[in-house]
Amino acid sequence: MDNKKIHVMAIGAHAGDMELTCGAVLTKYAMNGHKVTLVHMTSGEKGHPILSGDVYKKQKDKEANEFAGKIGAQAMILPYKDGELLDSEEVKFYVCDLIRQYKPDILITHWKNSIHKDHEATYKIVKDAVFYASIKSFQRDLSPHCIRALYFAENWEDPEDFKPYIYIDVSETYNIWIEALKSYEFIGNSPYFKYLDYYNALSIVRGAECRRERAETFAIEPLGIKQIFDYFPVK
Ligand SMILES: [Zn+2]
Repeated sequence: MDNKKIHVMAIGAHAGDMELTCGAVLTKYAMNGHKVTLVHMTSGEKGHPILSGDVYKKQKDKEANEFAGKIGAQAMILPYKDGELLDSEEVKFYVCDLIRQYKPDILITHWKNSIHKDHEATYKIVKDAVFYASIKSFQRDLSPHCIRALYFAENWEDPEDFKPYIYIDVSETYNIWIEALKSYEFIGNSPYFKYLDYYNALSIVRGAECRRERAETFAIEPLGIKQIFDYFPVK
């Protein structure tokens, strides 16, 4: 990679989603001096087995900021409610304005198919927001901004038709990432899913597939899966 510093923005439905699914890559970018922003559409405040949504929201917001601080990133929590996120034009233009304001080069979000409605809504919101942000004719206060690439992170809740396309070696930042994940209570203690075990093991599996120690993978839109040559490439 050249020395140019870029801005990587990850937009997840709930605080914790992007941290788990692409957190090691975000750590790698931040550690190498790039700007990294984690945007949470909601705090994910309805997921606690005991605490009320109001109380848990305060905790999740604190945890989101703590994780971001540990890897050298910024966290942003948008004003939407867990489980009630709508892929409305209003929300899409909110994210459009955010893209125009912060000008990310690379955007990461959820894959289109998910067992969670907020994840699917986030995919639709981000995809249209990227489009709206890039077109001058969508007149807003801020001038247009075109991102350079959109990637979809690998999430156990978004598995249908997800095909890893980009593999990124995260061996060097694995330990920092795991330590930062401990900011979140649910990641180590959820009674519903063994998050830490799953994503730890997944990084080993994906690493083995690309003959590295650990890796995180990303999908792209199917239309982008093409390589163009004049003759067959050979190694
Ligand atoms: Zn989620």
